Amino acid sequence: MSSASESPDKATANNPLKHPNSRIAVLTSHFTATMSSEKDAALAAAAAPPPADSPTIFDKIINKEIPAKVVYEDDKVLAFRDIAPQAPTHILLIPKIKDGLTGLSQAEERHCEILGQLLYAAKLVAKQEGLEDGFRVVINDGPDGCQSVYHLHLHLLGGRQMNWPPG
Ligand code: 5GP
Repeated sequence: MSSASESPDKATANNPLKHPNSRIAVLTSHFTATMSSEKDAALAAAAAPPPADSPTIFDKIINKEIPAKVVYEDDKVLAFRDIAPQAPTHILLIPKIKDGLTGLSQAEERHCEILGQLLYAAKLVAKQEGLEDGFRVVINDGPDGCQSVYHLHLHLLGGRQMNWPPG
């Protein structure tokens, strides 16, 4: 006879954050129950880092394999609404071609052009979204930066008063 502790149910078994035998579960056990889901995701990504240029969820959005609410697109940049918005306006801007840019820490001189294009697109989208009173642009990098998707992206946040320090 199996008990819940000996045989995790299917949902738990399929969830690397909850499976009792997974490396991620061991790591997450060091954190309190108040840990945010964003930190969960970053921790999971850090515990099982993908190969540098392996596809992420953002590649599926670029390839239209999964839907996204696209708000801006040009030949180099795609911008779409975050699935878990942290502000009334929360948009992600990504390079359509990753070219090794899993995160900002991987930037090399050849990336200067796309980095500038991403920032300029953020300004265009902020205007398009009517964020006349201001906005914030965030790039999370690596485990300490709470990065969970390893395809460089800018968060464009607006529509409410931001706080400082950001936490
Ligand atoms: P990071 O934590 O890496 O800086 O940000 C990743 C962001 O991607 C998070 O804010 C998360 O909500 C967002 N995200 C993750 N998966 C999806 C998805 O499938 N669709 C959209 N639109 N956003 C996603």
